[in-house]
Amino acid sequence: MSTRRPAPVPPGPPVGPVRLLDWRDRAHFARPERCVLCQKTTPLRSHNDEPVHKTCAETWNAEQPGETRFLSDPPKSGGKGNDHT
Ligand SMILES: [Zn+2]
Repeated sequence: MSTRRPAPVPPGPPVGPVRLLDWRDRAHFARPERCVLCQKTTPLRSHNDEPVHKTCAETWNAEQPGETRFLSDPPKSGGKGNDHT
């Protein structure tokens, strides 16, 4: 009879701070497709045209520090309240 105890559950990989992505541009919206990470439908697209939820991408980024799969939109420059010239 072995008294095998279940292995303690590892606390999981350390997850860094989640940095929020800026995907407000229209280019990030398309026909709903399955998110490449959670398989649920999303109209969002990454810069690589991958269907992915913003939150999924943010979590992925936090779990994969150093990777640049999902990027934020670059901040718009020169837009200081003069949209009509
Ligand atoms: Zn997702």
